[in-house]
Amino acid sequence: MSVLPVYLYDHPVLDKPTKPVEDINDDIRLLIRQMIETMHGADGIGLAANQVGRGLALTVIDLGADDEEYPMEKPLVLINPTIELFSDTTNDMQEGCLSLPGFRDVVTRPDAVKVRFFDENMQEHTIDAEGMLARVMQHEIDHLNGVYFFQRLSPVRKAMAHNKLKRIQRGNVDTSYPVRSNKR
Ligand code: ZN
Repeated sequence: MSVLPVYLYDHPVLDKPTKPVEDINDDIRLLIRQMIETMHGADGIGLAANQVGRGLALTVIDLGADDEEYPMEKPLVLINPTIELFSDTTNDMQEGCLSLPGFRDVVTRPDAVKVRFFDENMQEHTIDAEGMLARVMQHEIDHLNGVYFFQRLSPVRKAMAHNKLKRIQRGNVDTSYPVRSNKR
């Protein structure tokens, strides 16, 4: 069992843009395996490396067995991903986050994105994603840029979230997976 603790809001590692992965070595391969186990163990559908305390541009995504939106290997491993194109159209969807237990809200995001990334063999790919995959990719790539989903809420919604965020910040959470808080 090599599940890693999930870092909670507002640990500093989650506020900063991550650094590109330069090459794939045993350390990175182990981290990818541990991230996938951590994501599955927490019933998550995506996890960014800085959510387990590593400031690297790496994320894993698994929408589950019945998702047919992407033809590639599952779980999807995205190394140094960048969003090259956003659709003009948007949709609203409720989001949650393993670093923000007990907090969910509706976020407006573009419907579709074109994402360029490297896989575990440092092969380059682009995916034209829509639906849930586009949603999760944007959420995870936001993490890699030091952005939480609540930062995309309107000022009014953000103000309403204040107490919940304070509670998470204090480490006052109830989760089924191990967490690490930044409480001082
Ligand atoms: Zn998240």
